[in-house]
Amino acid sequence: MITNLRCIECGEYYHINRTDYRCDKCKSPLEVNHQDVEWEVYSTKGVWRYKEMIHPTLPEEFIVTLGEGATTIYENDKLSAYSGVNNLHLKHEGRNPTGSFKDRGMTVAVSEAKRLGLNHAICASTGNTSSSAAAYTSFAGIGMTVVIPSGRITKSKLAQAVAYGANIETFDGNFDGAMRKVIDSVGAYDKPYPLNSINPWRVEGQKTIIFELIEELITVDYIAVPAGNLGNTSAFGKAIKEMKDWGVLYDIPRIIAVQAEGASPFYRYMSEGGSDPLVPEDDPQTMASAIRIGNPVNWRKAKKSLEYTNGIAVSVSDEEIYDSKRMIDLSGIGCEPASAASVAGVKKLRNQGVIDRNDVVACVLTGHILKDTDIILQKMEENAARETAPA
Ligand SMILES: *Cc1c(COP(=O)(O)O)cnc(C)c1O
Ligand SMILES: [Zn+2]
Repeated sequence: MITNLRCIECGEYYHINRTDYRCDKCKSPLEVNHQDVEWEVYSTKGVWRYKEMIHPTLPEEFIVTLGEGATTIYENDKLSAYSGVNNLHLKHEGRNPTGSFKDRGMTVAVSEAKRLGLNHAICASTGNTSSSAAAYTSFAGIGMTVVIPSGRITKSKLAQAVAYGANIETFDGNFDGAMRKVIDSVGAYDKPYPLNSINPWRVEGQKTIIFELIEELITVDYIAVPAGNLGNTSAFGKAIKEMKDWGVLYDIPRIIAVQAEGASPFYRYMSEGGSDPLVPEDDPQTMASAIRIGNPVNWRKAKKSLEYTNGIAVSVSDEEIYDSKRMIDLSGIGCEPASAASVAGVKKLRNQGVIDRNDVVACVLTGHILKDTDIILQKMEENAARETAPA
């Protein structure tokens, strides 16, 4: 059993201890490469149930876990009727320790930092990555710097990162600028450990969303996910390909990557045929702050995911996202705005006749309802103003 890192474009191999996750030769991102690994699950629940498929060579003493994964899958008649899909399943990643799927990747990446004996980590964030990174590094006793685009992250997410004890650096610009700052700092002298999804260990942890979905539902036709920096889109394709290679998956589910119209560089890129490179958007706009990203770092990996699964990239308007969020909230399940893009994308593809009424569809709800309450209260005030306005 060997685990190493491999360039996703030129195939060059690197030692597992490398922490600059870009290829020296072609600057493409690296991925974790497992050799001679077989599908073998432990009886424990959550991410580490799948240890053999995500980090088989990691000594157990380095595992940093807050009990992530094993999230609930819901079915709901109102949401089936709303989306037009009878067999709709909602996997709620807001049920993780810090309230988003980021915890699945973070438990693996921070464990890896621990194994490497590093004592300082860094990330750029639209919010949930910083909350998650702050919690896991504090738990592990590792220092954490989060670079946050000033004024563009919700209060509740910022508060969470502060509360867990992260050192906050505000960046005067948007997420993509903050991300560039992190990438540039990683090669620097004191080498903080990068915890964004350029970190291939995050992708390994996030594969477990697919492992759990398929263990529970057995067959799935479509898996829809909100797409921002495209870490999940990348992880999902890798998980599906590996499961197929390991002989534990027969029919390949199609991945649906859903972007917000105002922040949809990947949707445009794929619609235009996907010939390199992706053209970033300079000023991405959407109320779904978790997917307000114009220059997604994982577009190469995500493209491979869609190619392998015969997947679909789609974009939805903020109105469609909010409408879906309202329905999810009213169903009692609840989620943050970006999460609702998955349901909005499915509804749109159902209306277009791409998805059939009887297909089995899973939507990933990426974050908790309390992650972004500003928008709910803002809509409430707008409605109140409308009701009291003279006719
Ligand atoms: C990070 C995040 C996303 C975007 O996921 P990517 O893997 O970056 O595409 C979507 N929704 C929520 C709630 C998030 O926290
Ligand atoms: Zn390369």
